[in-house]
Amino acid sequence: MELKSREYYAKTAENLKLHTDPFINGEFVKGGGKAFDSVNPATGQVVATLSANTAEEVYAAEKIARAAFEDGRWSGKDPAERKKILMKLGDLIEENLEELAVIETIDSGKPIFDNVTGDVPETAETFRFHAEAIDKIQDAITAGDAAHLSLVVREPLGVVAAIIPWNFPMQMAAWKMAPILAAGNSIIIKPSSLTPLSILKIAELAKEAGIPDGVLNVVLGSGSVVGNALAEHPEIEGITFTGSTVVGKDLLVRSGQTNAKRVFLEMGGKNPCVVMPDCKDLDRAAEEAVNAVFWNMGENCSSNSKLIVHKDIHDELVKLVVEKTEALKTGDPLDPEMNLGALVEVPHMESVLKHIRLAQEEGARLLCGGEKIGDGNFITPAVFDGVTSDMTMFREEIFGPVLGIMTFETEEEAVRIANDTEYGLQASLFTDDLTTAHRMSRKLKAGTISVNCYSEGDIGTPFGGFKQSGFMSRDNSVWANQQFTELKTIWINLG
Ligand code: NAP
Ligand code: MG
Repeated sequence: MELKSREYYAKTAENLKLHTDPFINGEFVKGGGKAFDSVNPATGQVVATLSANTAEEVYAAEKIARAAFEDGRWSGKDPAERKKILMKLGDLIEENLEELAVIETIDSGKPIFDNVTGDVPETAETFRFHAEAIDKIQDAITAGDAAHLSLVVREPLGVVAAIIPWNFPMQMAAWKMAPILAAGNSIIIKPSSLTPLSILKIAELAKEAGIPDGVLNVVLGSGSVVGNALAEHPEIEGITFTGSTVVGKDLLVRSGQTNAKRVFLEMGGKNPCVVMPDCKDLDRAAEEAVNAVFWNMGENCSSNSKLIVHKDIHDELVKLVVEKTEALKTGDPLDPEMNLGALVEVPHMESVLKHIRLAQEEGARLLCGGEKIGDGNFITPAVFDGVTSDMTMFREEIFGPVLGIMTFETEEEAVRIANDTEYGLQASLFTDDLTTAHRMSRKLKAGTISVNCYSEGDIGTPFGGFKQSGFMSRDNSVWANQQFTELKTIWINLG
């Protein structure tokens, strides 16, 4: 879609009709919990005041979702019918692309450019991909003995809860909703309290597309009240989560203490970008490395916040990285010219600024950026050189626009530095040698390895983490559809 002017998007923002209540049983219904504000991170202004749910209301939503599951209004529909409805939802998202993009920008601070060209079209594509898979995934007959017929079939889990972060609110919601619904489950989804608005619009469109009432429910409120009620619910069959490692691990504990609900976790990352000395196109490597760390202001679980470069090409690559970083524009996220928008909230911005100060105190050299600018939550992208593995910035996920550069001398050392982390979500590798690319891709411990580019793959490839970046979970691809099902063996005596 063609990009419009800042004025056009600002006007769209003024005329938005926003939903501000939870969506339960096909209706927007005021919650009885403590109301909360959605704040525009670029201006500090309140965009909307929303009503939140109480724990009791979450329990009531579960009963509604379960009744919808049990009576088969969705779980029992012909796969081709479910497919048609989810395809229609993809179309409706595209028809409402600009409105959704603007909602996402004023709620989260993400650049409008990214929302128009990436997040919204990819959200539509996510629904279409999983919709198309519905009537193509097949069950199996195993090679049993002649006296028996053995069928292996997949059935939906039942009621699945999804807890969503604020960094890609709409897209993360779609990554969960689409495969959960495609498999025939009912869903209760909880957005981050910082970014609840786009998901409510998607709920409106889902109803228009024909998803029956009660099958898709959006509950609102804090993690400690609403998230907790979902995590500790004694009957919800599954919970899928994208967010911090600390909350993710806590969900595992609470599943164990209640009904052993299936838990699927996508968590943090501290991802390396390794540039080998044989990499000839350093300009491309620098371009990709800069995008890899600063895309979405670094508020990205797969952000490549560590650039690990061979000492022989260090000076040339760093010069290019700094040039390209200084060319990035940070400011009003409704302006399509901006590469970086605002960080999601003031406390998070303060935490990023604290990390920048700490990196300097610990001896890393600031080459550019790292300044707070303007009235909103804006920080210019920062590049540090001379990072060592004992520094905080080497270990901790800053989740902001901060890059740390370090050097290596041998391939073995590069792999050791890249893998020296409790995380394992994504790694990028630049080399012109095919054998090196294959050999190192096998040695890097991460769910996605991108070679000669920065990427999370596409909707057809599974996305998820090794180590403490993930747990029994992959978003995207047909593997995601299958994980929201139980396997059942049906063993039939033919005698
Ligand atoms: P977060 O604090 O873990 O919050 C994520 C979600 O969990 C929010 O909806 C939050 O609700 C909820 N929550 C918080 N405490 C909870 C509790 N005790 N019980 C149940 N739910 C609870 O993470 P975030 O700050 O939003 O997101 C940033 C993190 O997400 C980063 O670590 C990032 O790496 C990770 N992330 C990972 C991926 C991936 O695919 N691996 C993708 C994106 C982000 P409230 O905020 O409303 O209280
Ligand atoms: Mg907000």
